[in-house]
Amino acid sequence: SQNPITPWIKTTCAYCGVGCGVEAKPQRNGALLIRGDKSHPANLGKLCSKGQALGETLSDTHRLKFPMIENQRVSWDKAISTVAEQFQQTIAKHGPDSVAFYLSGQLLTEDYYVANKLMKGFIGSANVDTNSRLCMSSSVAGHKRAFGSDSMPGCYQDIEAADLIILVGSNLAWCHPILFQRIKAAKAQNPDCKLVVIDPRKTASCYDADLHLALANGKDVLLFNRLLAYLADNQLLDHDYIEQHTQGFEATLQSAQQDKLTLEQTAKQLQISPVQLKQFFELFGHSDKVLTLYSQGVNQSTQGTDKVNSIINCHLATGKIGQPGSSPFSITGQPNAMGGREVGGLANMLASHLDFSDRNCELVRDFWRAPQIATRPGLKAIDMFDAIAEGKIKAIWIMATNPAVSLPDSHKIKAALAKCPFVVVSDCVADTDTLALADVKLPAQGWSEKSGTVTNSERRISRQRRVTTTQGEAKPDWWIISEVAKKMGFIHGFNYRHEAQIFREYATLTNKAHGLSQNALVLGDLADISDSDYYRLAPQQWPVNRLQSQMFHQRLFADGRFNTDNRRARLIPVRYIASAQTCDQQFPLKLNSGRSRDQWHTMTRTALAARLCQHQPEPQLQIHPEDAAAYRLDQHDIAEITSVTGKALLRVNVGKEVKPGEPFSTIHWSNSNSSAGKISTLGKAFIDPISGQPEMKATPVSIRRY
Ligand code: SF4
Repeated sequence: SQNPITPWIKTTCAYCGVGCGVEAKPQRNGALLIRGDKSHPANLGKLCSKGQALGETLSDTHRLKFPMIENQRVSWDKAISTVAEQFQQTIAKHGPDSVAFYLSGQLLTEDYYVANKLMKGFIGSANVDTNSRLCMSSSVAGHKRAFGSDSMPGCYQDIEAADLIILVGSNLAWCHPILFQRIKAAKAQNPDCKLVVIDPRKTASCYDADLHLALANGKDVLLFNRLLAYLADNQLLDHDYIEQHTQGFEATLQSAQQDKLTLEQTAKQLQISPVQLKQFFELFGHSDKVLTLYSQGVNQSTQGTDKVNSIINCHLATGKIGQPGSSPFSITGQPNAMGGREVGGLANMLASHLDFSDRNCELVRDFWRAPQIATRPGLKAIDMFDAIAEGKIKAIWIMATNPAVSLPDSHKIKAALAKCPFVVVSDCVADTDTLALADVKLPAQGWSEKSGTVTNSERRISRQRRVTTTQGEAKPDWWIISEVAKKMGFIHGFNYRHEAQIFREYATLTNKAHGLSQNALVLGDLADISDSDYYRLAPQQWPVNRLQSQMFHQRLFADGRFNTDNRRARLIPVRYIASAQTCDQQFPLKLNSGRSRDQWHTMTRTALAARLCQHQPEPQLQIHPEDAAAYRLDQHDIAEITSVTGKALLRVNVGKEVKPGEPFSTIHWSNSNSSAGKISTLGKAFIDPISGQPEMKATPVSIRRY
């Protein structure tokens, strides 16, 4: 029954990077009522199916409730002492680079900050990476190349202001549904607003599109280079903007024109019609306000960073950036992928958007009073797990993520973890494939129990608040990390009593870093926020600066000044490079992959809600009718997919949504919830050489009826 006394508590959704505001209300019977927060600027009260079901995913049967060593329950003191001793002994014997942390976009910013501080400032290694490497690290690298900093220029209100919205490699209707609803509402308000979807598949997002370019898998650079050349040929560039605010234009245009392809030849290579291609170019060139939203189809590629820059090049060359309705806009996958990269939770960043220059290392070392600051980048995700397999990393602490399922070539990841002398996993759930390989399991508080901040795709910091009591002996991640740090002898840096204290320290560091480097990430007077104001903190975008108006915070680079040394944005010459993953006689099909509408990551939480499992109860293989006929597959058959690294079984769904030769599979299933659809066993780790992000959408496979 409903408790009339309990108030609605404002918090933030646990799933995607849209970062919707949620209101939650605990009931006497243990249930949690959920509704959208009408005052939150990201969603204005709306929630998608996953957000609405948040209260149904709080099972107490699947929770990790107590610290465990070798699957035996132990006290927190024993667990923390064991982790601290094993890490200390490993470091003493093999050096700081023999240990690593693998973090997650599910962690709160405060958790991320403390983990990064311990590893980079006190242990003295930069072996801190995160599952966000699989999500948006190509966008980070592209931003840094173009803008001089990892700064996303736009805001969600650009959706309502745009004349043309382009989705590239993003099934926004399923993966970021609330933003897609905003697009539909914007189009209803302004029938002149056009939507173009660029995706090899005909996804749910295409049904509301004015134009769908079903381009050949991976050829985005070819498309946007040709767009740049077309804009130049047709006097559709903004030469004043190029001259005043950018550098590298001539070389970039030359590179884009180098192929000397006609429109028809380009269309043929992209496998689309010349009429459609020209229609897209005309729309881009003649629309004043263009918003290009892109996601994993761009990032998860061996050319992910170049794809990002090819998009940004077109926006810079037309001055369509940082203005209402105009921006290149990376949509992050996870709820706090942004917060993680802000504090420096990537192996190639030091802290607070700072890289590893001598000056930056000195600043952070002095600020943290760090005994041995890391001075060079550490190992990125794929390299980190390779180093475990090679025996170079001998102790790893994995927090709030399930790499034994989510990283490509997952058999190899499992084998590496099984061989690793010491594996610690902290998580809120009890039965993931990764936890099964842990020597020490640490129960972390989950969504609804923990408290801190997250940052969404539009740089908006929101509070996640505690709305239920904690199950078992679970603790906040920042507390667990701090206790281990203190046991390792690092007393002075980790005496935190409350997450607000960590937030203030992090905000102070952003201000110092901003003073040194002109980074856009600055939290201004939030460095002095009181505990009670932190508790009440309303959603707000960074940069936070009392002296500037809120309008300034909404969009970056509106004045045409960027964060490079000379304040000019960089256009980056890029050329299309075919993926090293090639199909052959043995593996003739290219397997694309992505999310289903109602599931999240490896389903450790969303599979607990019965209604979320109804949408797609089984792992699916979408396959074109021509391929189905060639492989003698009928609708609802089970197909066995084989790659050079593994096999997976998937339910067949025949349809023309996919191209011939390019079947598509959902990503979520793992051994702990099904032995059937685990497609992460299939992909070999081919990575973008700049960002280190693995390609997950072009795996050569063969198929047979099972
Ligand atoms: Fe949660 Fe994303 Fe859905 Fe919003 S769109 S309710 S953040 S899953």
